[in-house]
Amino acid sequence: MIKEFVCIVCPNSCRLKAAETEGEITVTGNECARGEKHGIHEYREPTRMLTTTVAIRGGTLPRLPVISREEVPRAMLGRCLEALYRVELNAPLRCGDVVVKNICNTGVDVVASRSMNRKEKRPYG
Ligand code: SF4
Repeated sequence: MIKEFVCIVCPNSCRLKAAETEGEITVTGNECARGEKHGIHEYREPTRMLTTTVAIRGGTLPRLPVISREEVPRAMLGRCLEALYRVELNAPLRCGDVVVKNICNTGVDVVASRSMNRKEKRPYG
């Protein structure tokens, strides 16, 4: 099987082709060794960082930006986003606080990518 994708390691955006023959993956179209490594990884098990926002109660903003500590399997991104859509946090939170541990059994924690203080209550509304 031949898979084609764009290398996302640097802005050069080389068009890669990866093919498997007898268990050996060969990559073409790459202009450097990093592209070959990326092509092999992308062929075997593509992964991505997960970034989104989560609802937060009592914060200075209505949503908190979050990020996975490591890449998660690309095939799991939709399920992880659905799980995060149902999460509601309480302010305050610090940057790096764990928001969801082991999201969807991927073994990866999702953490706050910024701090969020509590919104101060004004005495007259
Ligand atoms: S193959 Fe190398 S030069 Fe091309 S996009 Fe990937 S990292 Fe950049």
